[in-house]
Amino acid sequence: MLADVTAAALVLHDQQDPLAAKRDAFVLPANTLYLDGNSLGAMPKAAAVRAQQVLAAQWAQDLIKSWNTHQWIDLPQTVGEKIAPLLGAAPGQVICCDSTSVNLFKVLSCAMLMQTGRVKVLSQAGNFPTDLYMVQGLASLLGEQHCQLVLANDSIDNQALEQAITEEVAVLLLTQVDFRSGRLLDMQRLTQLAHAKGVLVIWDLAHSAGALPIELDICQVDFAVGCGYKYLNGGPGAPAFLYAAKRHHARLTQPLSGWMGHQAPFNFDNTYQKAPGITQFLTGTPAILSMSVLDAALEVFADVDMATVREKSLALSSIFHQLVQQQGSLHALQLLTPLEPAERGSQLAYQHPNAYALCQALIKQGVIADFRSPNILRLGFTPLYTRYVDVGTAVAILANIVSSNEYLKPEYAIKQKVT
Ligand SMILES: *Cc1c(COP(=O)(O)O)cnc(C)c1O
Repeated sequence: MLADVTAAALVLHDQQDPLAAKRDAFVLPANTLYLDGNSLGAMPKAAAVRAQQVLAAQWAQDLIKSWNTHQWIDLPQTVGEKIAPLLGAAPGQVICCDSTSVNLFKVLSCAMLMQTGRVKVLSQAGNFPTDLYMVQGLASLLGEQHCQLVLANDSIDNQALEQAITEEVAVLLLTQVDFRSGRLLDMQRLTQLAHAKGVLVIWDLAHSAGALPIELDICQVDFAVGCGYKYLNGGPGAPAFLYAAKRHHARLTQPLSGWMGHQAPFNFDNTYQKAPGITQFLTGTPAILSMSVLDAALEVFADVDMATVREKSLALSSIFHQLVQQQGSLHALQLLTPLEPAERGSQLAYQHPNAYALCQALIKQGVIADFRSPNILRLGFTPLYTRYVDVGTAVAILANIVSSNEYLKPEYAIKQKVT
């Protein structure tokens, strides 16, 4: 049994935190403890400055010349190269574009076309819905004889999943950190198991990019996708990213063959000829405003060691859970997230029959968390701007909401559109 966590210990942790100074790179509202950076990262100050610059100095003044003079045209590659080190990817393999869902469609189609005689896409029951829906969409386009979604049961030991990786499977599509439970899968092991059976692998990094060290190249991953607006702090609806291993580039065909993925867009040819390298994954005109903001937001990571981020993330979440256990009133909260560090990402998920009301009551008192159906209270830990003392305060507020029955007030039961 660990000793109780004291308020003084939390203050000491903050004083010794190598990432403490990073908090100043963000705009954080007063009287708010933000534990939802896994859903929408907080705003870096540099992002606000860049947004102003792009509007006032670039768009307003330089107008269309900006495509060349401010290198707007290269932004998908520039931002991709800034994300690459966070993914353990050598240059030339990551590009910023579109949404995670759309990018998934592109890489999934590529992977299916690379396989002959195999039609199954294996994923996990409980994977993020958009991942499953995109496979279903491709299956309805191609027909069941060309594409079929197969779901392995979501068991704690991954046994069902590992057994389902057979030579009948074309593509293994997994999310590295589960959006509900926060469970972290073993990328190296699962990728190896898949490759041994001739299966191509796509990893969704939505809840891992910017949260923990990732080694796409070392794990020999085939394809990956992920979000710009979660741990990368790119702002609401920020463009996503896509990784395709260089060894595959020459033989890929992606179906959303728009002009920006053409080898010479400004030749305006009638016939599509894909661009070499990662640029072949572009489709239409990049969203310059939001991509510029993401570009600026990524500067926060320039001098950050992801191992340090990971260490603090695990410490914050461990302490949060320890504090929850110290509070008698919080016994009804059931931790869904594995406690083993190798098996969890940067969030904690608690089941509670009144999880929605708890979440609403927390938000009312300035602790921003979120709710995931049917009964999960989800708390994200973002080491770049969350302090140890914040964790202590958040648990104290949660305990108070429960012991006072505050959360049972009818106002907290009203369902909002976004939970
Ligand atoms: C957040 C999230 C997405 C989001 O996809 P969008 O196309 O950006 O809306 C996709 N996959 C996972 C696993 C997610 O957590």
